[in-house]
Amino acid sequence: MTLLVHKYGGSSVADAQRILNVARRIAGVRDTGAQVVAVVSAMGDTTDDLIKLAHSVAAEPEPRELDLLLSTGELVSCTLLAMALRGLGYDAISLSGFQAGIRTDTTYGKARIFQVDPARVQKELREGRTVVVAGFQGMTEDMDITTLGRGGSDTTAVALAAALKADRCEVYTDVEGIYTADPRVVPEARKIPEIDYDEMLELASYGAKMHPRAIELGAYYQVPIYVASSFSDAPGTLIYHGPHGPRGPGESAMENRIKVTGIAYQTNVAKITVRSVPDRPGVAAALFEPLAAAGVNVDTIVQNTGVERTTDISFTVNRTELARAVREVQALLKKLGGTEVVTDPGLASVSIVGSGMQNSPGYASRMFRILADGNINIDMITTSEIRISCIVQESQVKEAVRLLHRGFHLEQGP
Ligand code: ASP
Ligand code: MG
Repeated sequence: MTLLVHKYGGSSVADAQRILNVARRIAGVRDTGAQVVAVVSAMGDTTDDLIKLAHSVAAEPEPRELDLLLSTGELVSCTLLAMALRGLGYDAISLSGFQAGIRTDTTYGKARIFQVDPARVQKELREGRTVVVAGFQGMTEDMDITTLGRGGSDTTAVALAAALKADRCEVYTDVEGIYTADPRVVPEARKIPEIDYDEMLELASYGAKMHPRAIELGAYYQVPIYVASSFSDAPGTLIYHGPHGPRGPGESAMENRIKVTGIAYQTNVAKITVRSVPDRPGVAAALFEPLAAAGVNVDTIVQNTGVERTTDISFTVNRTELARAVREVQALLKKLGGTEVVTDPGLASVSIVGSGMQNSPGYASRMFRILADGNINIDMITTSEIRISCIVQESQVKEAVRLLHRGFHLEQGP
């Protein structure tokens, strides 16, 4: 029997009507004979509202308490969806993350799943029920409730799909799939019918919305992930390894394939530069080890070659982590032997992504030419096998996305 894990995001269950809409869609799938496990996010902006509420009673809410509070958002939506399904005459049961066997470590706010015990879900499925699971949450060994990080319901869904060996994970949202760029920025952006995990990972980490950890899990456990809208029946995007598996000559390796799959961008980038540190072994380690230990997520790193035995090291962090990162770096400045710490808080990144760029020269230079012709200054550059990213001024990033989309003719399709 076909087993599908569905996931419905916050906007798909934002009010009673939408929950009923989701219930009807699931009922339609049940009518085809498939089994369904539905993972839900909290209704609408519930999570944001709960975070605000917490901060209105305490300046720094205790992470354990905050997670238990936030977990209630998903409990509301999952119980309501189960009730709605029953109201339509379809047997259903709601389960919290804990009841669904999601076990995590104790990193409140960003907990990682270390195990899924699917026994209870399987039992309910055997008894013919649709199982509705609260996303975004799990439980530690000490029976404390954790959350998986913002947008974490995607991860719940893919983890469950892997543990249940589901046929696929279908993620329903308010857009029709993955696009060549953010359609709000580029009106002519095109829906991508199929994309491989690596490309999706780069697009997800750089703006297009889906939890990167969910994609990583999907790639590792080979769970095909289908992303589509819960508001229409338009075909969505399938994320998978391609027709020939992880390393085979998949579609993405074919010569005639479009080489750039999509343009991603990310705002809220801040740059920190440590000026004139000695150009000798150990300086980078002495800087980045303490930052890592402090849990600061460092992204792009650039170190210039030395002038008179000193060098500048620049790196980017999310703007929300800037103050903390600067404090750490200031404290290290003496030990590092640097002269000063300079910051630029108003940056953004723009990336071109595509598996087809591997071993094909010329993409970087084309990207730089397009940005240059648009009078957009590049601050930093990084590349991976399937991605080239430029750090630019935040005020110019949307224009950069539009220019690159046009410049690489992404509106035309494969
Ligand atoms: N409700 C949580 C959030 O808004 C988790 C999710 O939506 O996936 O981040
Ligand atoms: Mg949400």
